[in-house]
Amino acid sequence: MPSLTDQQSLATPAGQPHFHYRNGELYAEDVPLVWLAEQLSTPLYVYSKAALHSAWGSYTQAIKGHDVLVCYGMKANSNLAILQQFAKLGSGFDIVSGGELMRVMKAGGNPGKVVFSGVGKEVWEMELALNSGVKCFNVESVPELKRLSAVATRLGRTAPVSIRVNPDVDAQTHPYISTGLKENKFGIAIESALETYKLAKQLPGLNVVGVDCHIGSQITEVSPYLDALDKLLNLITTLTTEGIELHHLDLGGGLGIRYDDETPLAPGVLLDAVFEKLAQKGLKLQLVLEPGRSLVGNAGLLITEVQYLKHTDDKDFAIVDAGMNDLMRPALYEAWHGVLPIRPRMTQTHVYDVVGPVCESADWLARARALALEEGDLLAIESAGAYGFVMAGHYNSRPRAAEVLVDGKHWDVIRTRETFDDLIRGEALLDRV
Ligand SMILES: *Cc1c(COP(=O)(O)O)cnc(C)c1O
Repeated sequence: MPSLTDQQSLATPAGQPHFHYRNGELYAEDVPLVWLAEQLSTPLYVYSKAALHSAWGSYTQAIKGHDVLVCYGMKANSNLAILQQFAKLGSGFDIVSGGELMRVMKAGGNPGKVVFSGVGKEVWEMELALNSGVKCFNVESVPELKRLSAVATRLGRTAPVSIRVNPDVDAQTHPYISTGLKENKFGIAIESALETYKLAKQLPGLNVVGVDCHIGSQITEVSPYLDALDKLLNLITTLTTEGIELHHLDLGGGLGIRYDDETPLAPGVLLDAVFEKLAQKGLKLQLVLEPGRSLVGNAGLLITEVQYLKHTDDKDFAIVDAGMNDLMRPALYEAWHGVLPIRPRMTQTHVYDVVGPVCESADWLARARALALEEGDLLAIESAGAYGFVMAGHYNSRPRAAEVLVDGKHWDVIRTRETFDDLIRGEALLDRV
């Protein structure tokens, strides 16, 4: 029979110290999670402010003394209160839509520190970004470059542009989150980059300011970044001989975090290697980074309640009240998330598949976990701060979960639980049936 200490030492695969056991139950900072679940119900996203600040600190520590702008890749978690934290810390933002830009401004972020990525920028999004004065458009195709030139000219503005180059490197990550290979839809092939820069130089309404790449996500090795950097540096040399001078180099985001037993890529380790290469080249460019997951991933938990324990001949299922509509990563990427009992039991464990109530076989959160459970127990799904709530939907007419930000012994609801009215907002019954 497992003792409480065994469970505790096994219990935090993601290694986030701001979520920890105290007197046999799991806390977020100084707030007992049982308490939050009782008051706010489940499923519930809980974020730790201290964890966000500590993740940010690992970047500020690593960039000390260098000209670096960190632009939070906000699609990982775009709750206004989370953005507000990063805005207050001085972060820039990497956005991929006009909606994200509106969130940045609502949260008090500085549009002058915004880089605008994405393969499908629409005219209204370009207009909004130009009128807000974003730092840079990361342009991903020639037709986009031409559209941006036309829109900027019509508005009488100049669009600062980087070309997002596809360096054709293997980020050694899941195919769905790899973006820097030739076959991906992202960026412009490095072989075509020079002619694209020449075109950008000629087109009216554009000001070439940088070069950009983003090779994938959940990357745990330095080498793919250095391979990409080498290719970008060669390109920069060629551009210089062609009389095209750049102001910044954007290496994108993608630093991996610990979900299970991965060794995360510390910003300091990556950046030391990057600064060394830049120094060798004698380059005085500003460096831009776009980290998303590594700033928020391990700062969040998804709290869920066990509804039923279902024992079949083949398997034991723990059916919980959070599903793939709340946390899509397992269904989408077969992602592994740690599962922590909020009040660990001393009783015999069983090997459970932790599954949701949604009518899909893909609706699972964790497979084959040894847990001692009873109906009504609370579980915390770890590492749910990135690509969690932002990917949530209403499938099966399930209102989206509430979100809470904990700060020491204080906590605030930063998004209320949705109601039935939220589910049907905008829908209409017809008079003529
Ligand atoms: C998603 C994305 C990011 C953030 O990626 P993470 O893996 O979360 O760090 C950064 N830049 C671009 C262009 C992206 O699409």
